[in-house]
Amino acid sequence: MKRLALAFDTNALQFLNEMFVGHYSVAFACRTERNKIPLWVLFVAVQFLDHIWATLVLLGIEKLRVIKGFTAGSMLDSYFHPYSHSLIMAAIWSVIAALVYKGVCGQHSRHYSKSAPLIIGVAVFSHWILDLVAHPRDLAIYDNQWKVGFGLWNYRDPEFALEIALLAGGIALYLIRNATPAIRKGAVGGFGLLLVIVQIGDTYVPRTALTDNATVTGVWIFYTLFVLIAFAVEKIGNRRNIDARW
Ligand SMILES: [Zn+2]
Repeated sequence: MKRLALAFDTNALQFLNEMFVGHYSVAFACRTERNKIPLWVLFVAVQFLDHIWATLVLLGIEKLRVIKGFTAGSMLDSYFHPYSHSLIMAAIWSVIAALVYKGVCGQHSRHYSKSAPLIIGVAVFSHWILDLVAHPRDLAIYDNQWKVGFGLWNYRDPEFALEIALLAGGIALYLIRNATPAIRKGAVGGFGLLLVIVQIGDTYVPRTALTDNATVTGVWIFYTLFVLIAFAVEKIGNRRNIDARW
């Protein structure tokens, strides 16, 4: 029974083979006291393209093969994902996300500043740039043509080091640029540690390949979990903050 549970745990991390923790560094780095964008919204933004991708794979529109040993750091062969991950579509999704944020929050939200929609757009587009660094040549410029990718997934240790360095830098910027009560600083640090542990499991724990649908279902579940944690983290110490101001 124990062995079975362990097998499930390590397999559950398999989907995270996308360059992963690095994306969240952008979310932490973008959040400032001035732009007032909640961290959880930025967590959605930086993985927005993957949310679309996971949904389209589940619908059978985009295609994915999970191949053990495909690259040193990833088992994902995303051979057809033009609607979520081509350069042109990444740019279009970024504009759409920025406009949606402007439309939803622009009128009556306290979570709004003039620069916020642009920052949301940049956060969404950053996903493509980081994927470009990590992915093998599977990112199309347009439709399913002219594929690019620098392939850092082929170099496991440098890839892992880059992910952690990006995350640490993003969290440092978050702590510097936001008025954060001590208790929330601890929570942000703990959250960062959790992400590092997940990345260690993802990069170094050997696993068997899941099916494509199980993989993208995992993406949805875990990305949503991280969004919820980001939401909860920014609630910690809120009350005390308000009290201190009065
Ligand atoms: Zn991606």
